[in-house]
Amino acid sequence: MSSTTQSYPKIMEPLDLGFTTLKNRVMMGSMHVGLEDRPWHFGEMAEYFAERARGGAGLLVTGGFAPNREGDLLPFGSKLISNWQVPFHKKVTKAVHDADGKILLQILHAGRYGYTPFNVAPTAIKSPITPFKPRELSSRGIYKTIDDYVRCAILAQRAGYDGVEIMGSEGYFICQMINKRTNHRDDEWGGSYENRIRFALEVVSQIREAVGEEFIIMFRLSMLDLVEGGSIVDEVVQLAQALEKRGVTIINSGIGWHEARVPTIVTSVPRAAFVDVTARVKSSISIPVVASNRINMPDVAEEIVSSGSADMISMARPFLADPEWVNKAAEGRADEINTCIACNQACLDHTFEARRASCLVNPRAAHETKLLYTPVLNARKVAVVGAGPAGLACATVAAQRGHQVTLFEGRSEIGGQFNYASMIPGKEEFKETIRYYLKQIEVHNVNLQLNTRVTAQELKSQGFDDIIIASGVEPRIPKMPGVDHPKVVTYQEVLSTDIELGKSVAVMGAGGIGFDMCEYLTHEGRSITLDKSAWMKEWGVDSKNEVRGGLVKPDIEPSPRKVYMLQRKSSSFGKGLNKTSGWVHRAVVKMKGVETIGGVSYDKVDDAGLHITITTGKQGEEVQEQRVLDVDHIVLCAGQVSVNALYQELEQEDSKNFTLHLVGGAELAGELDAKRAIKLASELAAAL
Ligand code: FAD
Ligand code: NAP
Ligand code: SF4
Repeated sequence: MSSTTQSYPKIMEPLDLGFTTLKNRVMMGSMHVGLEDRPWHFGEMAEYFAERARGGAGLLVTGGFAPNREGDLLPFGSKLISNWQVPFHKKVTKAVHDADGKILLQILHAGRYGYTPFNVAPTAIKSPITPFKPRELSSRGIYKTIDDYVRCAILAQRAGYDGVEIMGSEGYFICQMINKRTNHRDDEWGGSYENRIRFALEVVSQIREAVGEEFIIMFRLSMLDLVEGGSIVDEVVQLAQALEKRGVTIINSGIGWHEARVPTIVTSVPRAAFVDVTARVKSSISIPVVASNRINMPDVAEEIVSSGSADMISMARPFLADPEWVNKAAEGRADEINTCIACNQACLDHTFEARRASCLVNPRAAHETKLLYTPVLNARKVAVVGAGPAGLACATVAAQRGHQVTLFEGRSEIGGQFNYASMIPGKEEFKETIRYYLKQIEVHNVNLQLNTRVTAQELKSQGFDDIIIASGVEPRIPKMPGVDHPKVVTYQEVLSTDIELGKSVAVMGAGGIGFDMCEYLTHEGRSITLDKSAWMKEWGVDSKNEVRGGLVKPDIEPSPRKVYMLQRKSSSFGKGLNKTSGWVHRAVVKMKGVETIGGVSYDKVDDAGLHITITTGKQGEEVQEQRVLDVDHIVLCAGQVSVNALYQELEQEDSKNFTLHLVGGAELAGELDAKRAIKLASELAAAL
């Protein structure tokens, strides 16, 4: 027995379902990655799942497949409705079974969330997050929909799946049936709670009858709706008990409808934030219950199972970040796990932009057949300069392949700008990426030279075959009278020195770093991400769901200082932030009372403060106002510029006996993020 089977004994314990046994209690939850929609991507999807099955996951769940055209999430989206599709799915189930895994197909009817003009719902009420008003289903239409669910489950069984997961959470069709908010019907499917849950129960009963006893039926139950008029815990328990009677094998947890205005999965949500309500449901039924949402490391997972809050853990994004999560935990190598930092940047953001999902910290995710880290026959002597995300990815992937790598870093620690990111309240997860790379450096024998600002001469004299410059970025200092006044500091100075900031601060720039700086300046003391009850208070959540929808009045901790955020553009603030997390940053800035001023030109800084001119009004009818912001400090978050003097010096060499490469922020600072830095650096290392 390995040391970690002892360290995480509960999650590694098999789960006996009577007719079959799961080898452990860690499940890869459903995610739509963009491989599901076209049959010609099923080969790639098979490899994507097989890699996770080989990595030890006890159970896998596919992305959502609609049971009929009306249930489409997107036009021509993934669905399982016909026999001709079965052989494509067999590729997936065979690959998973060959890798000793088990896999369920998720049946997802989008209802009014369908991003198509043909969507349907219990009642014709448009959702706030889609432009299409749904058509109300007739009673006949509802019976037909149940038949379609059953057909989908039968086809899944024919394709070799070990079961199905019925999506009954996140505000999709089944939730729309269950909740008064979206179900105003006066027939047998509407009115009383018994009528509103009838659809879910009929779907389960009829699927069970069609597929027999030895087929897993998992139901993803909305434990906490987080919308006005949502369910309360007693109703959730009533439904869970009824589902158990109808033949459900396992209950999975769903938290929050997509239209909820409370974050449920972004990085600032505390780890395992919503497990209380899952525990309450578990105590009321006898079938296994799965906990989900913001569980990303084995100690958190182990605590949930060992405390009896749930029987199993579902993680989705952490399996994009690291397919080998389970094996590493089981073998006592938890410190080698590439942790999902819940940034959403390469997964959900991509999905919502109709692009294939991947992962910021693991660009191989969903590209398993294309981006290969194959061992090399002839090891090259490689120098990487800069240990930010780009240099770290490049050095560790090259070393993993067998190259002999030296990594030079000018500072006393690795991580580059990611160190600053991790200091923002709510971004503590970013430290995990730095920990992961530090461990990879050790595992793959990278020769790390800290405190070494290497020169061109030194690099040339050491006989490297390849020199990779990943020297990153530094803050842009805008041209403005008084920019050298002591009141003016960069975000880098604020985060890396012990400057004591005053009671009134202006943040110049409203990009990702400007918003992060506002979070830093408006929070005091411990980050609420590390204090679950403070987080629940600030976002107005009753985590036990004893209040309808789980929503209570937010109790917001006031900002310790007055903060202004400024931009030159007159467009709305935070427009360029990430698709699925930007709204959370915008909400925090509003909650904390940050005063945003757009259409600004910066006139000067002097002892009186920051002098600005604000332009408002339509083109041709502009009005200008001059203001002096009496602030103690002005923090520059005005973008970044590349640091690449070393590259330029090396490039000028006439007869180079090395190949020179430039990657990450050092190559291009504009619109740089860690996703691009890590992806390009990994691709470069894969090609060396
Ligand atoms: P850097 O991180 O700048 O690393 C370059 C490294 O090279 C540094 O460690 C530097 O010391 C070293 N170096 C430079 N010159 C030399 C030399 N001559 N010799 C030796 N070493 C040298 N990105 C996201 O994707 N998502 C986010 O949520 C996010 N949040 C952020 C929040 C903040 C507050 C900040 C500041 C940045 C954030 N970023 C975020 C941006 C992200 O950190 C950068 O895009 C990323 O770090 C760029 O990686 P890089 O390796 O190219 O450069
Ligand atoms: P950014 O997003 O490009 O924003 C720069 C800001 O500075 C803008 O508001 C810009 O707006 C302003 N600006 C640009 N030039 C200026 C000048 N000469 N004078 C005054 N203002 C100027 O860059 P960033 O905020 O530095 O972020 C860097 C990268 O890190 C971004 O690409 C981002 O993706 C990444 N990041 C991501 C996150 C995240 O949560 N995903 C968080 C932090 C950082 P105006 O021109 O309108 O004034
Ligand atoms: Fe996790 Fe970010 Fe990767 Fe998505 S992109 S899986 S949130 S680390």
